[in-house]
Amino acid sequence: MSEKLVNISEIFGENVFDDATMQERLPKKVYKDLKKMIEEGKELDLATADVIAHEMKEWAIEKGATHYTHWFQPLTGTTAEKHDSFISAPMENGKVLMSFSGKELIKGEPDASSFPSGGLRATFEARGYTAWDCTSPAFVRKDAAGATLCIPTAFCSYTGEALDQKTPLLRSMEAISEQSLRLIRLFGNTTARKVTPSVGAEQEYFLVDAKKFHERKDLIYTGRTLFGAMPPKGQELDDHYFGTIRQRIASFMKDVNEELWKMGVTAKTQHNEVAPAQHELAPIYAKANVAVDHNQIVMQTLKRIASEHGMKCLLHEKPFAGVNGSGKHNNWSLTTDEGKNLLDPGKTPHENIQFLLVLTCILKAVDEHAALLRESAADPGNDHRLGANEAPPAIISVFLGEQLEDVLEQLVTTGEATHSLNTGKLQTGVRTLPDLAKDTSDRNRTSPFAFTGNKFEFRMVGSRDSVAASNIVLNTIVADAFAGACDILEQADDFPKAVHDLIKQYATEHYRIVFNGNGYSDEWVEEAARRGLPNIRSMVDAIPALVDEGTVELFEKYHVFTRAELVSRAEIKYENYAKAINIEARTMIDMASKQFIPAVIKYTKTLADTVNAVREAGADPSVQAALLGEISSLLAETKRALDVLVKVADTAAGMDEGEAQARYYHEEVFPAMEALRAPVDRLEMIVDKEAWPMPSYGDLLFEV
Ligand code: ADP
Ligand code: MG
Repeated sequence: MSEKLVNISEIFGENVFDDATMQERLPKKVYKDLKKMIEEGKELDLATADVIAHEMKEWAIEKGATHYTHWFQPLTGTTAEKHDSFISAPMENGKVLMSFSGKELIKGEPDASSFPSGGLRATFEARGYTAWDCTSPAFVRKDAAGATLCIPTAFCSYTGEALDQKTPLLRSMEAISEQSLRLIRLFGNTTARKVTPSVGAEQEYFLVDAKKFHERKDLIYTGRTLFGAMPPKGQELDDHYFGTIRQRIASFMKDVNEELWKMGVTAKTQHNEVAPAQHELAPIYAKANVAVDHNQIVMQTLKRIASEHGMKCLLHEKPFAGVNGSGKHNNWSLTTDEGKNLLDPGKTPHENIQFLLVLTCILKAVDEHAALLRESAADPGNDHRLGANEAPPAIISVFLGEQLEDVLEQLVTTGEATHSLNTGKLQTGVRTLPDLAKDTSDRNRTSPFAFTGNKFEFRMVGSRDSVAASNIVLNTIVADAFAGACDILEQADDFPKAVHDLIKQYATEHYRIVFNGNGYSDEWVEEAARRGLPNIRSMVDAIPALVDEGTVELFEKYHVFTRAELVSRAEIKYENYAKAINIEARTMIDMASKQFIPAVIKYTKTLADTVNAVREAGADPSVQAALLGEISSLLAETKRALDVLVKVADTAAGMDEGEAQARYYHEEVFPAMEALRAPVDRLEMIVDKEAWPMPSYGDLLFEV
């Protein structure tokens, strides 16, 4: 732990091979070529790459780096890397030469066979390669392994199929840029050359004491508690939210911030979250691909620094049943290379019209592809947050705020919008569309997709998941909606009338997706069903949206995914789900057989001895005897539930991988896990704490 105070501007980005560093260190011509490549996607020739690689290596070695790695994001949700040292052949004088070539910089060959490919490699090529994504800067990461130069890369098969999250994300960014440019051209912008999605991912997490963590196999193997009775005090007092950050946590956060700043991650806000031991970290938004990388760095850094502070960082979506889970709010907007945010209502009338078109296109996109968007947030842990008993329903709806909703409602009900709630008057210059001000109404915390002033916030993403998938979907579905609008408007003779009519049409057709009420209420579930909005309760039910014909057509149209890539992704997701539940079931079986049942048996023996001793002493043993009876019957229930779980888990493991197996895990194994948990949790409430074989929820949540 460092005691000294830090100067942010001095350390910020010190471990990043960023634009300023490149400008300073690279020959002018090389720097210009690289910039061109970054901005226009031009190819880099090997000679230029050699120069960049050399300078990057020199810089990294000055930072203490001994190794470099192509840092990539396979379909496991996390990151992967293979480390190579800079050492090349030893020289005659016994010293070694440090080398790093352009070829090594731009292309790597990790052992692709150990990463999920959903059959892609079997069908195409056995090998895979990583390619430098020069739009996301290289950085030096320091940890127990020393310092490593990390080069963000995309991971593809030799025939070009994407085996990672980065490749389709970059493709989707191109799609949204192209279609956004078409749209703003209609409104007279002739100068912008690029539109980029900006993303800010707010990260929630829990911190628990490392010693206690290591006493729980469920946390070790699965990242969440599989058993555990609620403590007498939960989160009902809400006294943790924005509460004073305790010293141990504060010193952890200080180190996290410093590490992140050095790696160029703009860690900005930090606070306690709703649940005890829960916290949040938000960076300042960045380009979507950079934000996705940065979020991975944030997750890794939280884990590493927590360990250094004798704690463990839990990124699981639902580490504790009955206590708020963790998510990731994906803030998303579109900005031109001239700095104009298309989701900002703007100050002048024509900007307002453009904004209303953008907005209604987004409504259309989200309404038409709600199931796909829901799928993008599906991971095994998120099933406990979305559509589970205690969580918001897994229904996609859009929150617009009072003013915008009012404008749309006028359009939908009367065909004209003659005023807006804030300004009261019509100023747009275009028939019947009012001026808008930046939304001032209350934020709605229960909406899964909320407009918050100049961005949309997609709040379904799981805390452990990459934000890549959600942004791939968002970029592509909105690109498609823009394309549809442009196809019509580019042909229009009377543009003002055509755009007005189209906004009205989209608003009317997709108004059902707008919901400003309480998204957590039971009434909403019924109302959404009446509106025909999908309510997809589990990951297994969500996955088919990835491969339905509409999805395939959409992604192929914008060259984001091929059919084969989508099929492979669906397969991987079924596999990931089955594996996750299998590990959980096995862990429960292990804990029940080797820890809970033996501990309770031992305890019942003590109780039985006590009953006898009390009776012999001539006193009344009825309380002890009653307790013994209750515990013994729960123990019997535990054993029966355990036997059932063993049976279904074995059946599941014997099935072929794929949808049927994943469904079996969801429909048979998961309920059997719940059935085992119930009696064990009840036992925990009545068995002597001294006899319980592991730390309780109370110990984990309130004693960090
Ligand atoms: P909240 O009240 O939800 O915490 P904040 O204003 O603090 O909202 O922003 C949350 C996140 O949204 C931050 O990561 C922030 O950088 C990001 N953000 C702000 N403006 C934009 C924008 N225009 N586009 C994308 N993300 C944004
Ligand atoms: Mg938020």
